[in-house]
Amino acid sequence: MKKNFGSDKSISLILRIALTVLIICVGATFLHVYDIKNVFEKNTLKSYEGHVDTAVEEVKYQIDILKNIMNSFEKNMEGASLNEEINDVILRQEMYAKGYTFYYLAPNSVLVGSEENKYNDDLYKALQKISAYYYTENYVCLPAKNYFTDPEFCDSILGIKKLQDENGGDYYLIVKRDLSGILNIETFDYLNSMGCFAIIEGDGDVIAHSETFNKYLSGNNNIYNAIYAKSSKTNKAQNQINLIKKNIYSEISFSTKIDDENGDNLLVYAGEISNSHDMYYLYFFEAKTLNKMVQGVTIRSFIICLFMILVMVALIIFVWITLNESNDLIIKLAYIDEVTEGYNYNYFRRHVSQILQNNRETPYLMLRFDIMNFRYINESYGHDRADKVLMATVKQFEKVFDPQRELCVRVNSDQFVAIVINDIEFEEKYMRYLKGISDNANEAMIKYPIRLKMGMYQVRKEDQNVDLMIDRANAARKSVDVTSNNLTATYSDNIISNMRKVDAIESEMDKSLKNGEFKIYIQPKWDIVKDEIMGGEALVRWIKNDGSMVYPSDFIPIFESNGFIETLDFYMLEQLCIKMKEMRKEGKKYRFFPISVNQSRVLINNPDYVKNVEKTLKRYETDFSKIQLEITENLFFDQQDKMVDVVGQLKKLGLELAMDDFGSGYSSLNILKDVPFDILKIDKDFFDESIISKASSVILKKIFEMAEELDIDVICEGVETKEQVEMLKGFGCHAVQGYYYGKPMPCEEFIEKYCLIKE
Ligand code: C2E
Ligand code: MG
Ligand code: MG
Repeated sequence: MKKNFGSDKSISLILRIALTVLIICVGATFLHVYDIKNVFEKNTLKSYEGHVDTAVEEVKYQIDILKNIMNSFEKNMEGASLNEEINDVILRQEMYAKGYTFYYLAPNSVLVGSEENKYNDDLYKALQKISAYYYTENYVCLPAKNYFTDPEFCDSILGIKKLQDENGGDYYLIVKRDLSGILNIETFDYLNSMGCFAIIEGDGDVIAHSETFNKYLSGNNNIYNAIYAKSSKTNKAQNQINLIKKNIYSEISFSTKIDDENGDNLLVYAGEISNSHDMYYLYFFEAKTLNKMVQGVTIRSFIICLFMILVMVALIIFVWITLNESNDLIIKLAYIDEVTEGYNYNYFRRHVSQILQNNRETPYLMLRFDIMNFRYINESYGHDRADKVLMATVKQFEKVFDPQRELCVRVNSDQFVAIVINDIEFEEKYMRYLKGISDNANEAMIKYPIRLKMGMYQVRKEDQNVDLMIDRANAARKSVDVTSNNLTATYSDNIISNMRKVDAIESEMDKSLKNGEFKIYIQPKWDIVKDEIMGGEALVRWIKNDGSMVYPSDFIPIFESNGFIETLDFYMLEQLCIKMKEMRKEGKKYRFFPISVNQSRVLINNPDYVKNVEKTLKRYETDFSKIQLEITENLFFDQQDKMVDVVGQLKKLGLELAMDDFGSGYSSLNILKDVPFDILKIDKDFFDESIISKASSVILKKIFEMAEELDIDVICEGVETKEQVEMLKGFGCHAVQGYYYGKPMPCEEFIEKYCLIKE
């Protein structure tokens, strides 16, 4: 049967937590990615700024170097007057300073150096233009572009030094450095990868630029025009460009944005390289290229985060599946009884209020029951087969009763609790249920009759407390008199007061036994033919320390229910044996009569019973022929096979066996044929009425006849009058036990009165 407990709260809680964590993670991921995007953008811009600074430093450095090279050039030229000598110096210079070109412009306007004459005119014109610079110093460093039309000189800076020879003639030393070469070297790679770097004059004319600049220039040699061409061409863009123009003279370095044609930005960094030489730098790039990079990083981060979230989702699913599986196991452990495979007591207590709530108008009974003598089923048939009976107790319930509205579970060992509908069908269902359990036990080859000791509590509408209902049904169960044939009791207020009495007795019994409060009383058995004593019956009396006496009818049924009777019966047997041993050892002379001891039906079920009796008797060297055992008739009805076996074994030991209270229960005379008793004790119920009815006398006659045939002695109990004695004599009765001849008396009194041989 698949037990369905509905959704489990703990799992849904874990799932809810997991989902919340997941949502938080997704949110955090978006924030994180947004963060990454911002940080990346900022850092990229910063690193560009850094690179622009480095690039500017590089250009400045080149200008400085140009000055140094010019100095060494000047030094080497000292003393060189002939053209050949000058040429030599230039060649050497160019060999050591790669990337630089050296010229010597003589006073006669003859240019010495690489491709000498080619630039004569240009140089002259250029020198005219720049002559203004020489008012203050004889060395200038300036972009070549503005002075030379030849492309060779474009993208270069020139170092020019004006000198005079001994004749007062001006000559010039010129060193040219190609800047476009510099702008495309490694230092600028990073910048070039995204935008372009240019060295400009204040008015925006480009002196030198990286290769990447060509695509922006579009034939335009002015940076501002180039930027304008790329911009949104609005007034605003124009104003922004004007601002750069203005700032470039006054600020060391700055950055700004200009709206571009795509509705995006052009990012611009600009500043001064050498104010005195009208050289500035400007680096710009389209924001969209940065955006593309940022986008790439953002997407990559997002994919990684998404992947992690997916891993997390997979983990949650895995955990969920694992939890579900272990939840099944937990449910099994928490709510399933492993022996019956049905629900357990925890589940019952949880579920009963729900059943009652859902069926408010239905009358219910709370049942609390156990299986009679289950301990012996366990011991005789083994745990596995006994467990089948426990399982059948639940399975049969599920078959007979309505599983939606009725429920039965095992509490522990052989204890069960059930809630059932108390309608007209209940009795018929209950009988079917009992039969089902018995059939199952038979199938498991268990011959022992399965009987339930049942306590019932009628649930009232106002009842709320499940435990209280169960307790009340349990109180009813405990009140069942196991010696009677009705093993069912319904809770009533009397039960509680009885329970209290039972509790009081149970709480005292062990201590009382130790204190010797259980005493042997003996009632004589009389031979009515010889009119003399022939034996006695040992009967227990509980005489408490305060002197009050409790009779067996008040405690024997309780001891039979709780099992203490086993201890008590052996105690009585042992005390009797001790007494007999004492009598043998004393100097006085005694007659020994056979004394009978009552043995509860409960004892029979103990597999060691016969062995224990033998041990006890042998321990005190008791004469086996002087002990009789009385076993009540009711028992045989239940367990005839067992009885035949046990009585047979006891007889083998040499003990005499009596069937007690014959005629009080349901036994038939036939039993006497099967169970080898020596003595039949006829119950006092037969003689309760002062005049014995005709029917009783017919039965009695038959009993005596049959007993004689079977060679069984008969003794009549409860004989109180002379008339009864006489009448019994007429039936052929030889032995009686009753108040007429003697009431039960303390053991010592009995010995003194009947056993002691007085000289
Ligand atoms: P029982 O074994 O049938 O014992 C006979 C009972 O009948 C005794 O009651 C006795 O006092 C009573 N009786 C004898 N003659 C007369 C009579 O003329 N008139 C009346 N009205 N009663 C008479 P008692 O001692 O109260 O014991 C009651 C039952 O308790 C016993 O019935 C026996 O079944 C049980 N019992 C007593 N002692 C023990 C014991 O040590 N072990 C066990 N297992 N059961 C015991
Ligand atoms: Mg008896
Ligand atoms: Mg009796």
